Amino acid sequence: MNYDIYLCRKCGGVCAGRQDASTFTCCYCGTRNSVEKSLRLAKGIESKDVPGAIGRIKMARAGKGSTLK
Ligand SMILES: [Zn+2]
Repeated sequence: MNYDIYLCRKCGGVCAGRQDASTFTCCYCGTRNSVEKSLRLAKGIESKDVPGAIGRIKMARAGKGSTLK
């Protein structure tokens, strides 16, 4: 099972969603997002690598002065 990493459209949280799903549920605010309308930050991440991938994305975004979580 591989995951894609998405940005929640409601709260800006960085969350993983199943790669074959058409929606993902935000792990911060619980909003169900359509993957077609959401920004995909990474593709095809193995489940064991998801926490590391999210951490890297958050660090990269924080380095740009983003206020996103
Ligand atoms: Zn959210």
